[in-house]
Amino acid sequence: MVPDTKSSDLIHRAASLLQEHWGLDGSLQRLPGENFNAAVLVDGIPKYVLKITTDPSADVDLEQAVLHRLADRGLPVPASIASIDGRFVIPVEQHPRQGVARLQAFLPGTTWRDASNSIALLHAIGSQVAHVHLALAEFDHPGADRTHQWDLSAAQQHRASIPLVGDPRGRIAIESAMHLHAAVVMPGLDGCPRGIIHGDANDENFLVDADRVVGLVDLGDCLHGALVQDLGITLAYAMQQPDASLEGIAPLVSGYHDVRPLTDAEIRLVVPIALARLATSALIGSRRMTEDPEHETWHSHAKTTLSALTRFEGTEPAAAENVLRRACSLAPTTDTPPESLLQSRHDHLGPNLSLAHGAPLHVVRGRGQYLYTAGGRPCLDLVNNVCHVGHCHPRVVEAIAHQASTLNTNTRYLHESILEYASKLAATMPEPLSVCYFVNSGSEANELALRLARAATGALDALVIDGAYHGCTPNCVAMSPYKFNGTGGDGPSDWVHVAPLPDTYRGEHRGEDAGAAYALEVADVIGTACRGGRSIAAFFAESMLSCGGQVPLPPGYLSSAIEHVRNAGGLYVADEVQVGFGRMGDAFWGFQLHDVVPDIVVLGKPIGNGHPMGAVVTTPEIASAFDNGMEFFSTFGGNPVSCACGLAVLDVIERESLQERARVLGNRFIEGFQVLQERHDCIGDVRGHGLFLGIELVEDRRTRTPAPALAARLVRRMATHGVLMSTDGPQANVIKIKPPMVLNEQDIDMTLRLVDQVLARPDDS
Ligand code: PMP
Repeated sequence: MVPDTKSSDLIHRAASLLQEHWGLDGSLQRLPGENFNAAVLVDGIPKYVLKITTDPSADVDLEQAVLHRLADRGLPVPASIASIDGRFVIPVEQHPRQGVARLQAFLPGTTWRDASNSIALLHAIGSQVAHVHLALAEFDHPGADRTHQWDLSAAQQHRASIPLVGDPRGRIAIESAMHLHAAVVMPGLDGCPRGIIHGDANDENFLVDADRVVGLVDLGDCLHGALVQDLGITLAYAMQQPDASLEGIAPLVSGYHDVRPLTDAEIRLVVPIALARLATSALIGSRRMTEDPEHETWHSHAKTTLSALTRFEGTEPAAAENVLRRACSLAPTTDTPPESLLQSRHDHLGPNLSLAHGAPLHVVRGRGQYLYTAGGRPCLDLVNNVCHVGHCHPRVVEAIAHQASTLNTNTRYLHESILEYASKLAATMPEPLSVCYFVNSGSEANELALRLARAATGALDALVIDGAYHGCTPNCVAMSPYKFNGTGGDGPSDWVHVAPLPDTYRGEHRGEDAGAAYALEVADVIGTACRGGRSIAAFFAESMLSCGGQVPLPPGYLSSAIEHVRNAGGLYVADEVQVGFGRMGDAFWGFQLHDVVPDIVVLGKPIGNGHPMGAVVTTPEIASAFDNGMEFFSTFGGNPVSCACGLAVLDVIERESLQERARVLGNRFIEGFQVLQERHDCIGDVRGHGLFLGIELVEDRRTRTPAPALAARLVRRMATHGVLMSTDGPQANVIKIKPPMVLNEQDIDMTLRLVDQVLARPDDS
């Protein structure tokens, strides 16, 4: 709500209040601030401040209690002046709304905003904040359990206003600050000391005289929070001074530390909190600008917040932390230089192993949907469907740790966990899929599936889909056109037959009948193979194609293709390594979207959330055909630690309703990209299911000419903005999205805004 009464009228009414309740006749001069504050001049000299608070969310009782406490402890807060009848808080009916009036002693001094930043002053301001915290320790008030729009622990609420910021560089800097807040500040606040905090220790609320703080005003925003929030807020105002460098303003932090030593966790958060405050201020300002462009005090920091954000955006969080650590005489944290890691990789790892996302990323930590670089930057991980329930999910980590410290051995003993796991896994499958084999990777699982199919059919050959990848072992490479037809590949083996990629965007068959047409192609390939004297043991098909370019199988394709395969005596192996465990949203397994029942299901990647596991699930009949006297044994497969891990993953998927989450968030992503498609001609196709998506980039929508260079540029640019994506597909022009399923709406919206901005100016560096 915008105040609807003119300033002169407000002053007039305030003057009569002053006379009525305090018996004073001074003249009034409005002061900056969100509420009505006016200096009361007696004989031309400011003596008091009349404060009229009309904000319905204000808690004046809390504010008064804190003021009294701070005054008792000798802090330079304004003394409260009682009214003629002895009250500190006077209800007022209309000013212009209902509210309360208070009178305080006027504190002389210049606002910090108007003072110049000497080292001594910065140190004094930091110390003052720490003294407030010491004075408020062991003090409490029920009203402090609240939040408001400046509450840094709720800063995410402002993210949706980012599009209101006109300046594109400013928008990027705000995105980055808010991303840092979501991924670093929010999880970090829990580990920091808490108490009642000032809540708005900005540069208009400190009164200074030369290098001393002589006043601290406006406690109207105090609330429970992490103490370091105040320090971060204060630092945000030092950052807004023109030409401020972190080294130059670090005395503010050491000033605090000298009075109340900061913990490591707090020091790590100071700069990210400061950036979040700058972003919050810029966003609240932008929103208010649309509401009331004339309201001066509402936008008092509009320019300085944005320019500080853009100046400090490039600062690595770990480097910033070390600047502050040094200022506090603490040892800096250390890090291995990337050059030495690159050299060591070169010396000791096989050379045909690439690094992802353009510039090498040195990651040191993972949590939920985020990876963290050695420099402390968070990256939203949109490519890692292995860490399915979130990087380092505590439940999974705990299950692994507990079992690893209890027992880990092979499967030639009786043990409960493998049996519990096998029965729970089998329960997710349709009948008659009920027998499990445990291995250590998707490749091993596909190898085993091939052996099972050969044993059950007596045939040798495999039928695969063009562009597919099924693993890194010799047989799996032979079944992966993505590899054998790619760089360094040896071409097809005589026992492998390739059906065309059923791509309805770029392939030969498009439109409604494409599924049936592509299934007929499968029949053709089988026919040619059989006429050549070969027989098919199995059709290996991913339930949605991944390396092939994130291609959903067209309706009707899978059921007809399988029918042709089974008619030729072959089995259907569903490779669920990429898409299984609820990722598809509408179904737990990808094949269930097509209403088919495989003979063999191959599981990997998400099964252990990063713990190396793979599994094959099949029917009792096929299992018994495989049991020809030769034992099947995998030393590590199905060990108690892996089974405990697998059970925890299933448990988390269920408890956190991750399948439903994949459905809802997948739709949000798809709809968002469809909106971008209307704006950007280069988005040729948006496709996928749940959280397994492909965005196909083209040079020209009509010709559908692939745009691999643009796709690569987008991936590189998004990585610099802290969002990890990758490309895939035969033409490397499809942006692949398959994140941990714990990402949230904010992550998706940020991604869409950044993609929008990058595609609008793809040539910017
Ligand atoms: N099948 C598919 C569909 C895959 O994507 C992969 C791995 N990318 C594999 C099998 C092989 O799994 P792993 O790397 O665990 O051996």
